[in-house]
Amino acid sequence: MTKSEELFQRAVKVMPGGVNSPVRAFGSVGTTPRFIKEAQGPYLYDEDENRYVDFIGSWGPMILGHGSQEVLERVAEACRRGLSFGAATAAEVEMAELVCGLIPSVEMVRMVNSGTEAVMSAIRLARGYTGRNKIIKFTGCYHGHSDGLLVKAGSGAMTSGIPDSMGVPVGCTQDTLSADYNSLDSVKEHFERCGEEIAAVIVEPVAANMGVVPPLPGFLEGLRSLCSQYGALLIFDEVITGFRLGIDGAQGYYHVTPDLTTFGKIIGGGMPVGAYGGKREIMEMVAPSGGVYQAGTLSGNPVAMAAGIAQLTILKNHPEYYTSLHEKADSFYGKMQEILKDRGLPYRVNHVGSLGCLYFTEQEVTNYESAKTSDTRAFADYCNYMLEHGIYLAPSQFEAMFLSLAHTEELLNETLQTVEQYFAGLS
Ligand SMILES: *Cc1c(COP(=O)(O)O)cnc(C)c1O
Repeated sequence: MTKSEELFQRAVKVMPGGVNSPVRAFGSVGTTPRFIKEAQGPYLYDEDENRYVDFIGSWGPMILGHGSQEVLERVAEACRRGLSFGAATAAEVEMAELVCGLIPSVEMVRMVNSGTEAVMSAIRLARGYTGRNKIIKFTGCYHGHSDGLLVKAGSGAMTSGIPDSMGVPVGCTQDTLSADYNSLDSVKEHFERCGEEIAAVIVEPVAANMGVVPPLPGFLEGLRSLCSQYGALLIFDEVITGFRLGIDGAQGYYHVTPDLTTFGKIIGGGMPVGAYGGKREIMEMVAPSGGVYQAGTLSGNPVAMAAGIAQLTILKNHPEYYTSLHEKADSFYGKMQEILKDRGLPYRVNHVGSLGCLYFTEQEVTNYESAKTSDTRAFADYCNYMLEHGIYLAPSQFEAMFLSLAHTEELLNETLQTVEQYFAGLS
């Protein structure tokens, strides 16, 4: 038995499913997790001394690759001064100034500890600000695990949300309306029916929790104008896209300005950090300056801020990093699509910048419905083959691949060779 297998046996006895977050269990590809001991650059090392090329990057944060010396040094220095004070620190001011300086739509920001918390708080704020209760979310977009957002679409566009999880009272989701990603009509219907009750539309500007689905031209712009027309707030959930599609996120990439933005993942440089921010007039409603209550004992933690500041500062000082990351990604995903085409396989590669997904479907993937046509068993087989050949992909058809600056062209080409080998073995 491998050390990972041994650890998993112990883990399942004391942790639900053996993990602290479901997708880590590798259940959807029918295997068990590799327990990771260490990471360097583009590589992960497990407890059995196997090395993997990492295409998860902690689900997005490790855009510089693992083990950036500059980030680690700043964190170590912060640690020596103390792990937590529960009091105001200079690092929080520095972080807030940095984020507000990088994202023009963010005039004020509040730090929290996860993406879930950021979204939950932004929605409370949108409701407080507008005095309205309903929100629109898109089927297939993930916004963390807070009660009101664990909703799948009802059978018709007109039904209100049905909870997607046990333990979520129907009352918590009755104000969550579902719409179809990339369909402005499905959003319009809600606004026409009950526009004066809608506090906000929340969207992943690039949907990256059903694989990778780019917004069709005009979609984000259309959401912007519908929200303005009906007095609802537009919330961009940039937990994945923020500081990844560019230093100013998806809103800079697509030139559409939301009222509120949520961040997570990259913003903490690997530490547990989330944030929400937006227009001053809205943000001033957050306690203690306003009446929308939101708090956090460890929010703005000095060690977490140090990691976030260090990574964001590096990215800010090197705009060319994004150019080179996107060039590498365009070439990588483009070649992956070529491999499939050359073999006469009808599968689809979607990508935006460094985020990409190989869908095992013949259909063009533009929303949840088309993403769901993917053959998840074919994906599982592919994913396991890749893992056995030292390539660590997210163990689900509906997760993105994350490239980092540490993935060299050479390494990406080696990866493509393994992809090619896999598909060659099928025919
Ligand atoms: C991961 C994710 C979240 C939740 O963030 P956590 O830190 O896991 O709570 C929210 N929104 C999006 C778009 C995400 O990808």
